[in-house]
Amino acid sequence: MSSIQLTGLGGCQEVGRSSFLLDFGEKVLFDNGVKLTPKETEYPLPVETNLDGIVISHAHLDHSGNLPHLFVESDFMCYMTPPTLDIAKILWYDTLKISGYEGIDLDWSETEIKKTEKFTFPVHYRKPVDITKNSTLEFFDAGHIIGSAMSKVSFQDKSFLYTGDFKKDETRLFKGADLDVGNVDYVMMESTYGDRNHSSRKDIEKLFVEEVQNTIDKGGWALVPAFAVGRSQEVIDILKEYRVNAPIYLDGMGQKAARVMLSYHKYLKNHKFLKKALEDVIWIRGNQMRKKALKQPSVIVTTAGMLQGGPVHHYLKTVHSDPNSSILLTGYQVETTPGRKLMETKRIDIDGSEYTVKAKVEKFDFSAHASQQEMLDSLKKWSPSKVFLVHGDKDVMPVFKGRIEEDLGISTHILKQGEKTKL
Ligand SMILES: [Zn+2]
Ligand SMILES: [Zn+2]
Repeated sequence: MSSIQLTGLGGCQEVGRSSFLLDFGEKVLFDNGVKLTPKETEYPLPVETNLDGIVISHAHLDHSGNLPHLFVESDFMCYMTPPTLDIAKILWYDTLKISGYEGIDLDWSETEIKKTEKFTFPVHYRKPVDITKNSTLEFFDAGHIIGSAMSKVSFQDKSFLYTGDFKKDETRLFKGADLDVGNVDYVMMESTYGDRNHSSRKDIEKLFVEEVQNTIDKGGWALVPAFAVGRSQEVIDILKEYRVNAPIYLDGMGQKAARVMLSYHKYLKNHKFLKKALEDVIWIRGNQMRKKALKQPSVIVTTAGMLQGGPVHHYLKTVHSDPNSSILLTGYQVETTPGRKLMETKRIDIDGSEYTVKAKVEKFDFSAHASQQEMLDSLKKWSPSKVFLVHGDKDVMPVFKGRIEEDLGISTHILKQGEKTKL
């Protein structure tokens, strides 16, 4: 058999700009994302070869954000689930809008988004498709966000599984990853939480709801910054499940994402409940409604999850100085973001001035990524002959590699940026 090679183009010893090239005589690219930092956007290394196909694991920009760029000069067939395409389109158009405001010169435009769409072949979970002459792709539910997929590519007599971002355990919105993927020889796995475990989801939900209700009972506002895709809707679902007694508002890009999510019944654990929950809350349109939401104690779920722009700033102006209110962070806060600064220093910038926040600040670990134990359990089930680790911090990955090798005895390689390695 000819040799098989894997090249790391981005998302190696880092979280962001994921992109990996698998070459088994035919060339398949997994993901093509960007890394957004407050200062700049970082891109994966260029693809310097003709591709036979592109597989996109899920819509998050660190996996899909650079895809339209690949269509500036070439056409490739792309494979992703239908919700991934719909959510990615929202994010790509938003990227165009933001780059317009900030005067950033992207080399792609609406034309490339349309081209990407045209060349995308929709693939559903557990429906194998031939993507090149000699290979087959099968998607399995990754349990991370709507439409997220683990991608199994089979070629010659081998098979390669790329987990993308995945969550094995159940959450309010998703059943958890579908681990019944059959035989796999190689696994390329994310390792975001390779060095730690999460508290039980139920415990986190309870603590969160308690904090919200306490705030309301004190007469304050519970301001909940949340990511647009997944977290905003999950938080609403939780607030309704636990019957929080207060007006609940949904603001920001989470509204658009919610519409897409609700159009895909089969991709959600409990479509009916989520639909009812989202219909029961008040969708904010415009500043008049924002003012009204602050007239009485209320819960406001809004973007941006790390306070980088978005309508959350409108509310922060009022909420930050109220000791009876709370700001409840619901996701990972990347270093150097305003959310991280708030979490660590209780300070925040509003309209050019810095304030010490009087409202309570709390963070809840609603992760959509597998914990170390979830990942080890998954690998144990799959029992591949080799593991490649990607999508993790430099300090975290060796810890996880150690655990895989010690506990499971599976040879594990940390893929490096620009490295081409034989399988
Ligand atoms: Zn993701
Ligand atoms: Zn990711």
